Amino acid sequence: MPASALPALHASHGGCWLRDAPGKRGGGTRGIGKGEAITAAADAPLLMINAPLVASRLGYPDLAGLDLLELFAFIHPARFMVPTPKGLAHALDLPEPASDDAVPALLQTAAEALLATCEDPLWGAREGAWSALQSLARLHWAWAELLAPRIRRPERAERWLFSRLPEWEDAPERPQPAQIVLGDAEIAERLAALTGSGAEARAGQQDYARAAGAMFAPRRALGQPHVLLAQAGTGTGKTLGYLAAASLWAQQTGGTVWVSTFTKALQRQLRRESRRAFPEARDGKPPVVVRKGRENYLCLLNLEDALQGGFSGRAAIMAQLVARWAAYSQDGDMIGGDLPGWLGTLFRRRGIAALTDQRGECVYAGCPHYRKCFIERAARASAQAELVIANHALVMINAARGRDAAQRPTRVVFDEGHHVFEAADSMFAAALTGAETIELRRWVIGPESKSRGRRRGLAARLADVASYDEEGARAIGQARTAAEALPGEGWLARMGEGAPYGPIEALLSATRTLVLARDESGGQDAGYGLETEVAELGGAYIEIAGHAQEALEALRQPLVQLGLRLEALMADGPDWLDGPARARIEGARGAIGWRADLLAGWIALLARLGGPGDPDFVDWLALDRSDGREWDVGLHRRYLDPMKPFAAAVLAPAHGVMMTSATLRDGNDWDSAIARSGAGYLDVKPLLFAADSPFDYASQAEVLIVTDVPKGDIPALAAAYAQLIEAAGGGALGLFTAIRRLRAVNGRIADRLARGGLALFAQHVDPIDTGTLVDIFRDDPRASLLGTDALRDGVDVPGHSLRLVVMEQVPWPKPSILHRARRLAGGGQAHDDHIIRARLAQAFGRLIRTRTDRGHFVVLSAAFPSRLLSAFPAGTPVHRVTLEAALQRVSGGVSARETELHRESRTEKGGHQT
Ligand code: SF4
Repeated sequence: MPASALPALHASHGGCWLRDAPGKRGGGTRGIGKGEAITAAADAPLLMINAPLVASRLGYPDLAGLDLLELFAFIHPARFMVPTPKGLAHALDLPEPASDDAVPALLQTAAEALLATCEDPLWGAREGAWSALQSLARLHWAWAELLAPRIRRPERAERWLFSRLPEWEDAPERPQPAQIVLGDAEIAERLAALTGSGAEARAGQQDYARAAGAMFAPRRALGQPHVLLAQAGTGTGKTLGYLAAASLWAQQTGGTVWVSTFTKALQRQLRRESRRAFPEARDGKPPVVVRKGRENYLCLLNLEDALQGGFSGRAAIMAQLVARWAAYSQDGDMIGGDLPGWLGTLFRRRGIAALTDQRGECVYAGCPHYRKCFIERAARASAQAELVIANHALVMINAARGRDAAQRPTRVVFDEGHHVFEAADSMFAAALTGAETIELRRWVIGPESKSRGRRRGLAARLADVASYDEEGARAIGQARTAAEALPGEGWLARMGEGAPYGPIEALLSATRTLVLARDESGGQDAGYGLETEVAELGGAYIEIAGHAQEALEALRQPLVQLGLRLEALMADGPDWLDGPARARIEGARGAIGWRADLLAGWIALLARLGGPGDPDFVDWLALDRSDGREWDVGLHRRYLDPMKPFAAAVLAPAHGVMMTSATLRDGNDWDSAIARSGAGYLDVKPLLFAADSPFDYASQAEVLIVTDVPKGDIPALAAAYAQLIEAAGGGALGLFTAIRRLRAVNGRIADRLARGGLALFAQHVDPIDTGTLVDIFRDDPRASLLGTDALRDGVDVPGHSLRLVVMEQVPWPKPSILHRARRLAGGGQAHDDHIIRARLAQAFGRLIRTRTDRGHFVVLSAAFPSRLLSAFPAGTPVHRVTLEAALQRVSGGVSARETELHRESRTEKGGHQT
């Protein structure tokens, strides 16, 4: 059946449109109500795009249909597409739909075009399609029947995924890098080569690149790395600036430079830009490798389990589509790599996570797919690479507990350096909670439910060790018995019933009782998380904590013992310990070591209860909830200054470290940036560099502080957002500090805006991952996006698509126990002001990304203190105005911009004609 014979449905905030099958009601497209749309979808399979989003627009979660996104994922695995009607049209080279009512016809044309691809002899993703389709048909995938007549059976049987993937190869260890000093002239020359002869020379960028060269000089003393703090305003061109120095050093010395980012957006940009700086493969090895945490990559063993019955229903369909992708993926990265971010949300989010190696259960060389494993491939490739692109957390993990010297970063550029503190804060935190402890139990014992997966406990993973080494076997047995004391399945329900089982659940239950009794934050009624400080806990609680401490120690001891046995075994080298077995034991030793450390951290946390506080730490008890639903409870510990362990684990072993950002300093003040670099703990004096942005903020941007939207008045806040977005004609990024207010505003304005042709998307509301939301926003200049923290500096949308940023209020820090302690240590108000200015500067940084960008930055707050204005780049005009005046300025700015665009487009056309 041709796809044009199928009815198609589209739903937006502006309404619903159904295109009937030809012959039925004339076959045209008509606007219908939500009720009729739901009935139509129940009657027959309808073509639609992004079924979960359509379901959410209709308010009917059980909606099913022929989702074009699923078909696209099958036909074009690992290909990028913005999951909107417009994105689909672009991906298939079809005309964009002019309006919502044109979408159903597009869906029919697009479905036919996709199905026809299967009959094209040049279809690049043919291999594996027939076999995958047979499995998908058995799973009753909605598209299977339509695809079956279009995909012919191959003459020779297709190889299955696991034999098609290439094997990685071991490479010899690399020698130490040569010791050199980079000259200014050669850095300038390299930079010129990278920027291209036609590019204008940017003085700031040249100075910046030369400054970056200093971090690569030979180290003068052990534990004394070169530390460079480089502030570079937006538009300086810092990426190519540091890549110029880094590529020269790596190529001349044979060493590896790590560039670390906080956001995926920058990681993608670096992947693109580094191609110019590192064009050549060295001995056939890729010079640039993107490296992420294990939990980002597809685990082939988990996928095999899922394909062979571990997943059922819709999750099994997803596993088949993931298998299609895996065969064509560049690197197996499921989170932010070439797996479309939207694929997981079409099914269920946990499904994607269950295919990665979340729990550290990898069996290394014991795994049949070890030689093809994406994670192992990335780890090996990074040891041979000239440039490794990673994130802050992974750099810290590798520095603190890298498997071998080749994996440890010694020259690191922390881009988005203002986030290093935050990343270190999470990295060096301890959380003795239900969720953490049950993970540990599963890792030691294996899962309790009748899961059919491969997940197994420590005893099964180390069966060969146990049969060879008596002491090792005893330690495994003791660990298994001790792990019974950890929370098991159903622990959360037992908390609610006040019926804990075992010493750790008893501790969690007592913690919950205490938090509920003491919290005065007002979060109880709002359904938020609750917390209380570790003080005056009472004798009964301390006693319970004492039992928990003993139970944890009883688990830690055998794990430490087992680690020592494995070490001895490696030294002994029995006959059966061949290369793969050695790799597996080595992997197990690392995993056991960090779990023993984890337990030691928890034990230290419990040991301090009831005694004097340790000034290095902040401890508290918390009950985690969202929308009133409890999901975790436990004790937390953070370093008062996480840069202290960062300095010991990351800086001290390094030779050169650069932290760079557009918002490293607070105004012109370096003090906080220096304190937040950790250099002070090593007695290292950092080198300082600053370059101002080349942008003309005085003419490109305006800050508007709106003084007449009353605080706490949601209808007024929503009306202000709607009017501002209308005045700008879309292209607005709305930033919120509370999800509750974001949802309330979105609910009030989305339909109204849609009726005016302005699409609105919202994080925490729409069933779409954040990266895809940004892709959708970037792709449509009339769309607007509402979001919270992650969007404040994870959005890089240059050009006309982002011309207005609206903050609902001054982004005050949340008054948590941790914040109170750091505020006290950091100078009270000055500490808060620094945080707020940094947040404002980051949010403002979204607005102007190129020399031609123009836009308004609006804060809806009458009480905006003047001392925070230094957050904005020098010269940016700031006006305190009423909403009415702000609307005039925003719409005026847009019309000026439109005139300009019109003029530009005429000039361009003229240019083509001549
Ligand atoms: S080696 Fe480990 S991570 Fe890789 S596929 Fe096997 S079990 Fe999964």
